[in-house]
Amino acid sequence: MRSRGVEIKTPEQIIAMRRAGLVVEQALTAVGEAIRPGVTTGELDAVAAEVIASAGATPSFLDYGARPDGTGGFTGVICASVNEEIVHGIPGERRLAEGDLISVDCGAHLNGWHGDSARTFAVGEVSAEVQELSATTHRALWAGIAAARLGGRVADISAAVEDASGDYGIIEDFVGHGIGSAMHQPPDVHNYRVRGRTPKIVEGMALAVEPMLVLGSPDNATLEDEWTVVALDGSVAAHWEHTITVTERGVWVLTAADGGEAMLGELGVPFGPLAD
Ligand code: MG
Ligand code: MG
Repeated sequence: MRSRGVEIKTPEQIIAMRRAGLVVEQALTAVGEAIRPGVTTGELDAVAAEVIASAGATPSFLDYGARPDGTGGFTGVICASVNEEIVHGIPGERRLAEGDLISVDCGAHLNGWHGDSARTFAVGEVSAEVQELSATTHRALWAGIAAARLGGRVADISAAVEDASGDYGIIEDFVGHGIGSAMHQPPDVHNYRVRGRTPKIVEGMALAVEPMLVLGSPDNATLEDEWTVVALDGSVAAHWEHTITVTERGVWVLTAADGGEAMLGELGVPFGPLAD
């Protein structure tokens, strides 16, 4: 069922999305364990591919955006964005070095439903400044998640993300999104306050919340590879993302191992899983 282009899922479909979300969670955890100086982003891609295949799922990102003639699609299972790369970095020969910051975005498709999540990892020791950037982006993600409630509006999430983003540069060109039978659906979930009416948050809605923050200016450009988005001033970027839903009981984070229970508890937000 759709209302104003927003796909509304049944409880059974949300539970199916949870299964897809857990595949993404496992893939990102495995990638995190493989991150160290000297590893290539292509090797990390293979780690995620293996987890997704073992779960009987398919990668949402591979071939995403392909033209009708089959060319131009994304060639990775993960997006691997290092340092000044903000999002959509293509995994390949790049070797991680001590002090790098890498964001890894991953999507999986299982039994017709998608999950989408991103984490930012430090490679060895990073500077305190870079560590704080990633920590703030993570807090902004959870502030947005914590602002989601039935009867509220998608704009509540956006305002909470902005308020938690401090003085960092907020990337406005890329936003969170509805998700379900397709990876990217309405509505947009902005990472900053928006004017005008945004959809009401209702049961059966699933949203990907994904703030991207940079140390410097948010001005950015897409490289000639047609995918990699970089900060024009070369400053380091961080990106965190979860797929969430809101039930009568509270919030359920479909791409978190514990469904978000621990973080939501810290934030004083009811945890609302559906019976599985
Ligand atoms: Mg993503
Ligand atoms: Mg996303």
